[in-house]
Amino acid sequence: MAKIYCNDDVDMNVLKGRKIGIVGYGNQGRAQTLNIRDSGFEPMVANRDDDYKHKAIEDGFEVHPIDHVAKEADVLLLLIPDEVQPQVYHDQISPHLKAHDVLCFASGYNVYYNTIERPQDVGVIMVAPRMIGKAVRNLYENGLGFPCLVAWEQNGHNPSIAIALALAKAIGATRLGAFESSFKEEVLIDLFAEQILWPGIIKLCLLYFEKLIKSGCDPEVVTTELHLSGEFVEIAKAMITHGFFGQLKLHSQTSQYGQLSRMDRMAPPELLANIDRAMEEISSGQFHAEWSKEQKDGKPNMRRLWQQAIDHPLVQSEAKLETLRKIVADPYDSRC
Ligand code: NDP
Repeated sequence: MAKIYCNDDVDMNVLKGRKIGIVGYGNQGRAQTLNIRDSGFEPMVANRDDDYKHKAIEDGFEVHPIDHVAKEADVLLLLIPDEVQPQVYHDQISPHLKAHDVLCFASGYNVYYNTIERPQDVGVIMVAPRMIGKAVRNLYENGLGFPCLVAWEQNGHNPSIAIALALAKAIGATRLGAFESSFKEEVLIDLFAEQILWPGIIKLCLLYFEKLIKSGCDPEVVTTELHLSGEFVEIAKAMITHGFFGQLKLHSQTSQYGQLSRMDRMAPPELLANIDRAMEEISSGQFHAEWSKEQKDGKPNMRRLWQQAIDHPLVQSEAKLETLRKIVADPYDSRC
């Protein structure tokens, strides 16, 4: 079992006297910066002269150019999108790194795929929240935590282990638990969910919608049943409260029998082959190469796939139910 670090296992003093620099003030950047400040540190913020800069100024930070913070900071958190990190790192960060600096990633992507050349005398760590940025901040403000994965490169730069854990505590993650992991493991669990779990669920939802419409059901009734009622979310929450299968007891006996007796039919050999293929594409770097090329070409396939998605009749049905969607999304603010 992975080692799990909680608040009492971690000493944040290792961060005292080190300048913490944050590159990027977006989803994770803003949340982590505010949490680190509320944990008693004075992070320096770097952002381009662009949209997020103004938010950081509003929040009371002086905002510096990225190369300036790269030069000043001893511990640098890279909180910009994974796909822009290699260029920003190459142009604005790496020329300013000094021995014993620590570079902290919030995902394993660029370390696992080796897109960033790391000097031997710089510590490389990962503190990857398993939580969206907004919730990283909201949970912290409410005294609560969230899980995160921590890792460090085995390059003999030992203090970076302590720094990874101290940062995990400063952002509030060790209130729940920081799991000792690796850059590779983070990439596998993240990309495998993105390429198997979520598209599998999305595709099944579309097939469910299409078949019921063909069978004469009303699109808006089906859309409400599918996700707009909020039952989907309640089932997911019940999985946490009662257990993955334990939540089945909240359904009728007919439902329990239907689900358990038909579950194995959902994994024909073709699906199992696709699961193996996705894992191979992710772990070998084939997907990374494909995605890098797609970005270089100006994302033509991404645009086509988005268009295909939003042209689905489910989206038109959803639009007709806009009022219902707003009420379920925010029941306390909206009224019928
Ligand atoms: P965002 O998309 O929210 O990042 C936006 C930030 O990046 C802004 O500050 C933006 O500045 C800056 N930025 C964008 N492009 C550039 C560029 N070319 N040069 C300089 N700055 C740029 O990122 P996330 O917070 O989603 O992700 C940050 C890291 O956190 C990633 O490694 C991600 O994998 C990881 N992560 C994200 C999670 C999430 O919930 N989103 C969850 C866990 C980990 P500007 O004002 O210029 O636009």
